[in-house]
Amino acid sequence: MAAHAARFPSDGGVLTTASNVTYAMAGRYIALGPAGITRTTLAHEFGHILGFSDAYMRGFRDLGEDGYEILELVPNPDDIMAAPGIGRVQQRHFEALISVPGEPACHPPPFIIYIRSLPICSSKRE
Ligand SMILES: [Zn+2]
Repeated sequence: MAAHAARFPSDGGVLTTASNVTYAMAGRYIALGPAGITRTTLAHEFGHILGFSDAYMRGFRDLGEDGYEILELVPNPDDIMAAPGIGRVQQRHFEALISVPGEPACHPPPFIIYIRSLPICSSKRE
């Protein structure tokens, strides 16, 4: 996917298809998979393009024949970066994007989002 994203201009974020699952690469792209996506999850992934990290923690433990035990900690379910399904954009997100005169913003936004669907590989037509 990194090679695919490299086909887009480097001065902005990318929203593209061409993935088997939806995920984001922080500061660079959202790769949409074929499954449906909620508006809040898309907003969460967009937050990654703007430089925000996940605000939840997830771990797992191998239980052998019983599968895996997954533990997820959501410190603030109102925060879109902590709870992609139900959270909302918080004031802290806007504040992080606004620069103080003389100081760079915590998360300088790319300002440009390239939205395009490109094929993963070219096919030869006969
Ligand atoms: Zn995330």
